Amino acid sequence: MRELLGAEAEELFAALDAPREPAVRLNPLRGDPAALAAALPWPSRAVPWCPAGRLVAAESAEVAADPLNDAGVYYLQDPAAMAVAEAVAPAPGELVVDLAAAPGGKTTHLAALAGDAGLVVSNDVDERRARALLGNVERLGVTSAVVTCARPERLTAALGGACHAVLLDAPCSGEGMFRRSPAAREAWTEAGVERHAELQRRLVAAAADLVRPGGRLVYSTCTFDPRENEAVVLWLLARRPDLELEPLDLPGAADAAPFGLPGAARLWPHRSPGDGHFVARLRRAADAA
Ligand code: SAM
Repeated sequence: MRELLGAEAEELFAALDAPREPAVRLNPLRGDPAALAAALPWPSRAVPWCPAGRLVAAESAEVAADPLNDAGVYYLQDPAAMAVAEAVAPAPGELVVDLAAAPGGKTTHLAALAGDAGLVVSNDVDERRARALLGNVERLGVTSAVVTCARPERLTAALGGACHAVLLDAPCSGEGMFRRSPAAREAWTEAGVERHAELQRRLVAAAADLVRPGGRLVYSTCTFDPRENEAVVLWLLARRPDLELEPLDLPGAADAAPFGLPGAARLWPHRSPGDGHFVARLRRAADAA
């Protein structure tokens, strides 16, 4: 990070040691978000890139224990993670696949943005995590999602070339988790970055196979290493001439240009709310075979 960011790296390290500010994403399936925001029992302020997101002045445990959480009025979510479904921007009636979806923060956001009027195929390969995902889909009252537990290649066999939008929120080395989880810091290894990058390339290739002509693919991680972010997208773009990077316009997010991918977004914990995320959106050519 010192090599990549120069003096700014110290600001990043300081942010990773600073306390987190919890955030909730209000669930429009439970009521008008403006009314729900007014009903929150804590002072709150907007998340720049997500109209339903609110940063709340409270302890995370208190927000998690509130009955409004059990009632699915909101989803407790890192604010940076709220940028991802906004980048997918699903419309009513669309078929969307969320390939690595548990525990469901982005699936429930995708369904909400489509007015619960499309179809989200929400998949996770890990059965225990897929059950937690199902629990969250039910808690938030989402009726337009189907939860599956399959290897991505199986979904590709069934839905290849059929999807308006595909999200791969990839398993990663989790550097964005360093602030909230000492265990994430302990678990990090140099070899883990390389291992994740290899898995990410496999998964993003499967994700691309799901996209219909004219459809979009969003790739995201909660880690900072360019080998798991820009490099994975550039690897895919080199193999798939039918895909093109589509610049994102997420208010308050930084551009990934310094890391070789102008138009993709970097959310840094020292520059904007949240623990950090990378997001890139690709569009498949409308005349692709
Ligand atoms: N999108 C989720 C959310 O917003 O709540 C978080 C997803 S988490 C970053 C990555 C997920 O990828 C994990 O739940 C993990 O079980 C899943 N995963 C790991 N390997 C996978 C694979 N080969 N296929 C599909 N999912 C996989």
